[in-house]
Amino acid sequence: MIIFKKANHLSHHILQQKSNGKKIGFVPTMGALHFGHLSLIKASKQANEVTVCSIFINPTQFNNPEDLKHYPVTIEKDIELLVSEHCDVLFLPSAKEVYPADHEKKYYDLGVIETILEGHYRPGHFQGVCQVVDRLLEIVQAGNLYVGQKDFQQCIVIKKLIALTDRENGVTLNIVPTVREEDGLAMSSRNLRLDKEQRQLATSIYKELASIKNNFGTTAFEELKSRAKQNLEQKGFEVDYIEIAKTKDLSAARDASEQLVVLAAATTGKIRLIDNLLLN
Ligand code: AMP
Repeated sequence: MIIFKKANHLSHHILQQKSNGKKIGFVPTMGALHFGHLSLIKASKQANEVTVCSIFINPTQFNNPEDLKHYPVTIEKDIELLVSEHCDVLFLPSAKEVYPADHEKKYYDLGVIETILEGHYRPGHFQGVCQVVDRLLEIVQAGNLYVGQKDFQQCIVIKKLIALTDRENGVTLNIVPTVREEDGLAMSSRNLRLDKEQRQLATSIYKELASIKNNFGTTAFEELKSRAKQNLEQKGFEVDYIEIAKTKDLSAARDASEQLVVLAAATTGKIRLIDNLLLN
């Protein structure tokens, strides 16, 4: 695996590979890698000759400075995992490489998706996501981009970003299913911050989503959501939302006439976790 720290060195390498007819797959991450990230690498390896993973903890997408301060860093283990998956290239830039002094901060007109659910609870978060993905795509010039369904709303935002930046003909967005622990908890870098008791509790988020999925069609949406919220609150979670929404734009759903998803965000201790399940 080749490690690049400089954006222009990586861009040059990619150009060379592309001129040799090689397809480039790109997996952006913030590190503290787990099997969820590795499933994205695997998907990219299957469809591209060159797989590039980036590890960059993007400060502009953190609305909560404490979250940024405590974001886990396990770079040596990350490199070992990437090598074991035969990842071809790791991009490990400094903030200056991603946002040089002359970097022009853009505003991305994302519309309603930026104001609901994660957008509501994490103001500015999706502007930061767009800023970093836009810049990374500029550097990496990949034809295939791999993202996780775990961050469902982020997938919609990135799709919009690709359209807003006129990349629809150049970049294909590939959404990879969520990888879970044995007890159902969605893998996440933030899980590393859970203590033993919180880790045990954390699986309840998945269990409540699974219960909504099981009872879907027999119980009213409002009842399903409020029961799940109550159950989590009884276990000490602070619940930001449990919402049943349309997969196409995450607007709230009243019936099952379209493809739906149930999404949740809840905090245990100081650790905020998100998850979702497709319903019908
Ligand atoms: P992050 O490092 O958290 O920014 O995540 C990098 C990428 O990995 C994003 O596209 C995430 O959606 C994806 N990802 C994170 N957790 C999982 C998971 N459990 N299963 C599948 N993909 C994931």
